Amino acid sequence: MGRKEQIIEALGLYPIWVSKNRANANSICADTSEIGNKSRPKIDLENDHNLIEQDILNCKSCVLHRERDKVVVGEGVFGADWFIVGEAPGAEEDSRGKPFVGAAGKLLDAMLQAISVDRKKNAYISNIVKCRPPKNRNPSKEECLECRPYLDRQLDLVAPKIILAMGRIASNSILDIDQTIMNLRGEIYDYKNIPVIVTYHPAYLLRSPMEKAKAWVDLCFATEVLADKKNS
Ligand code: SF4
Repeated sequence: MGRKEQIIEALGLYPIWVSKNRANANSICADTSEIGNKSRPKIDLENDHNLIEQDILNCKSCVLHRERDKVVVGEGVFGADWFIVGEAPGAEEDSRGKPFVGAAGKLLDAMLQAISVDRKKNAYISNIVKCRPPKNRNPSKEECLECRPYLDRQLDLVAPKIILAMGRIASNSILDIDQTIMNLRGEIYDYKNIPVIVTYHPAYLLRSPMEKAKAWVDLCFATEVLADKKNS
């Protein structure tokens, strides 16, 4: 059994999904480890990211600034192929200032690893709102709208080839719609000509492990969409 199969088995992400279109029928999802954005110097991207970070650190545009410990800007690679977006920081993210840490973050990292995606190599990870909602409540529509310009700036900066929206709030917010995840899964949506794929939030998968197989199908679908985009 290969490394990817071992990861998939350990996560309970069965059945293994095999691309219908892939020439090598034994391959498990596409290898999407290539790093994108080769057009702008890294120093420019870092400077722009620092500007966004400063604006977010100073932001008091919505009530969420009142009880935050740290703002959670986002982390990853500028020019990455993948942009992963969740809804809001939780308690551990709030105390560490990093997105997707703790148990949900570990599950996300493991699932991404199974499709050769890594926040240190070829992904950027952030949230719709950058400050933790008190008691982990859902961010309101108004709070999502208030924070949205930061996400748009991050997306412009990273210029990903695909966006993976995790959970109902992140998906609805980025697509500006109001739908359930069940209704949204399995389709390709558009954000400024970047394909958006919807899946479950890893925190939900920890509570509902039976849904991991569906999330795995979504991730494999996303790798297929990315591969098609690169080939087009
Ligand atoms: S959640 Fe966003 S808009 Fe609200 S205070 Fe934090 S950074 Fe500003």
